[in-house]
Amino acid sequence: MLHLRGGAGDGKLRAAVFSRGRLIELRSTDSPFDCAQGRLGGCPHMSFFQGESMLVVMKAQATEEQVRAVCQKIEMLGYRAHPMPGATRTAIGITGNKGEVEQGTLEEMSGVQEVIQVSKPYKLVSRDVKEENTVIRFPGTAATIGGVGLAIVAGPCAIESREQAFAVAERVCRAGAQFFRGGAYKPRTSPYSFQGLGEEGLRIMADIRQQFGMKIITEAIDHESLDLVEEYADVIQIGARNMQNFSLLKRAGRARKPVLLKRGMSATLEEFLMAAEYILSEGNYNVALCERGVRTFADHTRNTMDLSIVPAVQRLSHLPILVDPSHGTGKRNKVTPLSRAGVAVGADGLMVEVHTQPDQALSDGPQSLFPDQFDELMKQVRQIAAVVGRTVPGIGVTETVAAK
Ligand code: PEP
Ligand code: MN
Repeated sequence: MLHLRGGAGDGKLRAAVFSRGRLIELRSTDSPFDCAQGRLGGCPHMSFFQGESMLVVMKAQATEEQVRAVCQKIEMLGYRAHPMPGATRTAIGITGNKGEVEQGTLEEMSGVQEVIQVSKPYKLVSRDVKEENTVIRFPGTAATIGGVGLAIVAGPCAIESREQAFAVAERVCRAGAQFFRGGAYKPRTSPYSFQGLGEEGLRIMADIRQQFGMKIITEAIDHESLDLVEEYADVIQIGARNMQNFSLLKRAGRARKPVLLKRGMSATLEEFLMAAEYILSEGNYNVALCERGVRTFADHTRNTMDLSIVPAVQRLSHLPILVDPSHGTGKRNKVTPLSRAGVAVGADGLMVEVHTQPDQALSDGPQSLFPDQFDELMKQVRQIAAVVGRTVPGIGVTETVAAK
């Protein structure tokens, strides 16, 4: 549940109470301290007075022109407008770091129902701004991230050579992956480890897209690589180590391609959503999240895959969330069970590392599946997907498995 504070134009403050993206109560209050008292008394709405951003809720029957006029007004005032059309009405998020917007001006405009202040630190990623799930589409293909169909992303950790990448691509495509992954720029713990093929790796991936029809996802590690990744790839990956590289997040927010943002290895839910907020605040609303395990005391796995973040994200945010059991466990034998679990818990897709010769892989061999194992994973995932009402559309699938 989320509380928003706003002026009603009558000099009184109003508290809008949202639950799961729906406005359930609009309370008038004479005192801004009402909720502060509630907070002291155990009210969970902690950041009631910290928010600076506002939300303009348009009337259900507001015209496009009215929405446009409000956006123009917001921009004229020196802020940024983020119109988010919903099933019943459009909400316009206002961001900018200049402090509070003078609400009265906007409230008087035609088509405006309400101007409210968003108290949560994340706004544009929140279901309060957009209730419906975000579905990232790729024109000309059936592939989506966030739709009923699961997004299956598979490929090697790194693009090592043309032969290696094509061999893996052929197998994962045949097994049903619509997205091919592979690092051309690798953020490695050691400067002496393989750093990736750079632009040559991107060219190989573009050729793979051409040959197999899979969409390409690859990581950008800095501004320079992001320029190139944006040019070649279909989805820009921001890795765990860069989840709080705010300048890179802003650059990704200005990119014309969707972004897959991986969770930092010690990031809280709020930090994760705030990182995504950076990207949306620059105008790129096509963002998907990815849980890839967090660091804990456990030593039977490389990371601890925090599956509970999936429903936690889905409760608060409209953004899709994938899970990556390869980095999430670091052990080949745990990737398939955790993939099943990820789909069962409601993830919108999987990211899985696959290699034809994992023992010779230049990075992450121990967590990479053999192609036959990936075939088996897909078979099992299709069964789980059917149980939770999802499908697994694939480009290269030869056998048809009924997914109800
Ligand atoms: C990757 O997906 O190749 C990767 C480096 O993952 P992460 O950023 O989650 O470590
Ligand atoms: Mn890897």
